[in-house]
Amino acid sequence: MADRRLLMIPGPIELEPDVLTALSEKTRSHVDPTFIEVFGRALGRLREVFLAPDAQPFVVAGSGTLAMDMAAANLVEPGTRALVVDTGWFSARMAEILARWGAEVVRVGAPIGGAPSLDEVAATLARGKFDLVTITHVDTSTGVRADVEGLARLAKAHGALVVVDGVCAAAAEVLRMQAWDVDVALTASQKAIGAPPGLAIVMARPAALARHRARKAKVPSLYLDFAEWLPIMEAYEARRPHYFATPAVNLVAALDTSLGLLIAEGMEARFARHARLAGAFRAAWSAMELSLLPRPELAANTLSAVRYPSGADAKLVAAIGKEGIVVAGGLHPEAKAEYFRVGHMGAISPSDVVAVVSAIERAFRAAFGQERRGLAAAQAAL
Ligand code: PMP
Repeated sequence: MADRRLLMIPGPIELEPDVLTALSEKTRSHVDPTFIEVFGRALGRLREVFLAPDAQPFVVAGSGTLAMDMAAANLVEPGTRALVVDTGWFSARMAEILARWGAEVVRVGAPIGGAPSLDEVAATLARGKFDLVTITHVDTSTGVRADVEGLARLAKAHGALVVVDGVCAAAAEVLRMQAWDVDVALTASQKAIGAPPGLAIVMARPAALARHRARKAKVPSLYLDFAEWLPIMEAYEARRPHYFATPAVNLVAALDTSLGLLIAEGMEARFARHARLAGAFRAAWSAMELSLLPRPELAANTLSAVRYPSGADAKLVAAIGKEGIVVAGGLHPEAKAEYFRVGHMGAISPSDVVAVVSAIERAFRAAFGQERRGLAAAQAAL
């Protein structure tokens, strides 16, 4: 029998059948008028998803890490000062990427599962001149969601550009890119945006593009340079053929289909659905006497990072797999063996919550002889 296990990791995620159909269409020329229409429409749709009519989308083949690299490559020159709001392993990755492009990086962090307070970030900003502030909207290694709105306000008051890594958040957690004055938001196709892995998405608003234009030297990487891609993205939106590097034709078609579904659902409805389903998961964890890795008030709506209770360990992940649900182990190097992660983003529904919680109940019983009941609480919350 085909693998019918439900994929509930924090990306890649289960895809809508229409998205898979679009992916499997005959590969067209990247300058075929029908593909130009699809790519052009997808770019316009990204502005709707990010709630940023004035943003310039860049969609290139690559993963989320490439999107991080692209943002850094274009905004950093030797000596650029960057403050990284550190909420986990992916924030640390951003710090590493910025440093490789020549930035002087200051990290403001917190113990694992926490986030620095706005006051702590403000105090660091006050002590030095920063050109950039980066925020990991949801750090997938800890399940911590950052206060993007509050942090962006602080950064803007300081005159810094704001870069948001939205890989595990965009299209699920509330992000009002333009209203909150976020300059760059980036993501990847395989998360809440609902397409297969393989596309890096970078949204850049005018101040970020201006910073790029004001660079003293060219971006050292040709493939990552906004200047190479801007005419291409503009041409597709104007429904004209133009070539720099071959777009991932089938992935772009899948992305466009998924974005169409997201917009049909409506962004506010989508944010609310993710909050409601995450709330049902949290009700289940609490009824099962399981605690979260993130401080409760910081827990993301896109995934749960759940600590193993005493008497249980990482064997739980395989046991849940045997019950038909694929979840992920821990990721943060300091606590890898202490928790597991359940992704809950994209096209999920209340019945997926029920399926996951009941599979976890059975797995605790089968692997550790523990009775942990969360289903009734999840149902009540739904
Ligand atoms: N940032 C965050 C917050 C992520 O969750 C991930 C992937 N899990 C990345 C960056 C890197 O994305 P990718 O694995 O697609 O390179």
